[in-house]
Amino acid sequence: MCKHILNVQVAIRAPCCKQWFDCAECHAERSDHRLRRTNEMIFLCKKCKKAFRKDMSEYDEQDEYCPHCDNHYVLPAVEPKAALMVEGEDARVDSKMLKDERVKGDASRSIFTQDGSSRLG
Ligand SMILES: [Zn+2]
Ligand SMILES: [Zn+2]
Ligand SMILES: [Zn+2]
Repeated sequence: MCKHILNVQVAIRAPCCKQWFDCAECHAERSDHRLRRTNEMIFLCKKCKKAFRKDMSEYDEQDEYCPHCDNHYVLPAVEPKAALMVEGEDARVDSKMLKDERVKGDASRSIFTQDGSSRLG
């Protein structure tokens, strides 16, 4: 599973190591080499599970669709980080409540702050 792009529609076959990856970052994480760039990319549609190749040097709008099932596989990447940031919209309002309160550390005085004088350094 790709954790970089949540709505990934195709797997990409890396031309360098002949392995299937969901995105270039997945390849970077699992490989010790750079993804080789090539004009002819091989994709595997996740919808119909069929492979197809595309010449990236003459990539056209119609090439954004799977030739087997017409699945529109070129989608704007939805990244997990971006999804989290949506909830932070109104953070400005909440920030007023964040006063400069100093956390008192009394509770942390426990076994960790024992007098260590009896110990040999
Ligand atoms: Zn590779
Ligand atoms: Zn990935
Ligand atoms: Zn397809």
